[in-house]
Amino acid sequence: MMTETQRVNSESVLEIDGLRKEFPGVAALDGVSLEIREREIVGIIGPNGAGKSTLFNCIMGVHEPTDGEIYLDKKTDITGEFTSRIVRKGVSRAFQQARVFPGLTVRENMVANQDHEDENIVTTLFNSAEATERMNDLVRQVGLWDLRDRKAGELSTGQKKLLTIAAALMQNPEIVMLDEPTAGVNPNLVDDIIDTIIDLNHDGATFCIIEHDMDVIHTLSDYVYVLNNGMNLTEGPPDVALDDPDVLEAYFGE
Ligand code: ADP
Ligand code: MG
Repeated sequence: MMTETQRVNSESVLEIDGLRKEFPGVAALDGVSLEIREREIVGIIGPNGAGKSTLFNCIMGVHEPTDGEIYLDKKTDITGEFTSRIVRKGVSRAFQQARVFPGLTVRENMVANQDHEDENIVTTLFNSAEATERMNDLVRQVGLWDLRDRKAGELSTGQKKLLTIAAALMQNPEIVMLDEPTAGVNPNLVDDIIDTIIDLNHDGATFCIIEHDMDVIHTLSDYVYVLNNGMNLTEGPPDVALDDPDVLEAYFGE
């Protein structure tokens, strides 16, 4: 187990304490605790069935936890809130399936993709010079500038993922949750996605990345939590955590 000194010394953005989620006949999460700090890239990894998607869905308000707490900024309890409210409080996400509106352009997707309760927000964003500048900056930063006025439906899977990551950052969230950002992506584009996430992180974005792929997590993460059977298995910097014999056993053992 790592000591505190091996972790960046910044404020807690997301804290999860003893999270439990029961489905009929199975505890998908059986008391998971973790913390994500400002400007970190934290990887959450574990074999199939470990509880990663359930954790993601509990954080985003898709599932209501059976027990435990989820805190934003140490003080805001978001446990069991509606997704729209969680998003508004600063937790943004990009889905594994890279959902885009295929008939809208890349830039239209940057605003249309936003979670909101207020329909006028799309107009507001389009009419704001500041929002337009942010949109353009993000589209450039994820390498889609040349495709900015193309229909999103014409993009490759990897390009769609880059678009959803950029869109997730539009409203300057406290934290961006990414579910398997490189899954299903052409191997040529995987490095682009990794480099883009690192670049956005250097500019101040905090990421929580849920991933099955150890290599991706190893390259990206400042700190890693390994889940197994709905529980914390180990944690630490990737070099340490991913070499843990218990982790290798959980992944490759039988
Ligand atoms: P991972 O994403 O790490 O592969 P999941 O969170 O999808 O793991 O699943 C954890 C456990 O919870 C598995 O045993 C899975 O079958 C179960 N599970 C997940 N979602 C549901 C659900 N909606 N209903 C019942 N069981 C579920
Ligand atoms: Mg999953």
